[in-house]
Amino acid sequence: MPSSEGAEVNVEVTVLLGAPGSGKGTQAKEACKEGNFIHLSTGDVLRAAIKKGSDLGQKAQTFMDAGNLVPDDLMIGLLEDTLKGYEKNSRILLDGFPRTDTQAEALEESSANVTQAIYFNVPEDLLVERITGRRVCGNCGAVFHTSFRPAEDDGKCDNCGGELNHRADDVEEVVRKRLEVYWKQTEPLIDFYKKRNKLKEVNANQPIKNVQAEFRKFFV
Ligand code: AMP
Repeated sequence: MPSSEGAEVNVEVTVLLGAPGSGKGTQAKEACKEGNFIHLSTGDVLRAAIKKGSDLGQKAQTFMDAGNLVPDDLMIGLLEDTLKGYEKNSRILLDGFPRTDTQAEALEESSANVTQAIYFNVPEDLLVERITGRRVCGNCGAVFHTSFRPAEDDGKCDNCGGELNHRADDVEEVVRKRLEVYWKQTEPLIDFYKKRNKLKEVNANQPIKNVQAEFRKFFV
């Protein structure tokens, strides 16, 4: 994955690993509030592209709606383009990429410096409930849950009053497919990073504040 016209990108990347619903996006958003990090969620980038009706969005939508992965060539190109837009030495929390071996290799070969991969460990049987109850603010992106983190005013975001949405791929049938894809294609990346001595682990099956405390220990 060469950088543009030989320019050094040199951003520092922490990869966030974990199944859909493991809470990595929530933690990344919290961490970014203090301004030292940039949260790059490839899922968010794709959803924005769909909303805009761009070529990328149109190509990605069918895969996403079915709970499948968007093809590697599209995703690697997308990451490459996005990384080029950051200032040197930016600290990126990379959420949702890599999801396959090919993507992980491409990231290692890029000019981004992957310093660590943090694995959010949650027992498999909790994931479906966590994802299907998820609600996301259409305005600021804050994440709520109908049981575990309900908004004070039902249907409205606590932060900005924006409308809370239920993602089309957060319905049970699609969630089961996404989890199947995760176990098959993405879970093996835990080993990929372990072999490179980059793997750290967080127990993500505890209250958000406790997960946050464990997560923060990896950034000193
Ligand atoms: P997420 O918001 O991370 O759960 O991603 C939502 C959907 O976007 C996934 O189910 C995939 O269809 C697609 N997607 C996001 N990131 C990637 C990626 N790195 N590789 C392939 N597909 C992706």
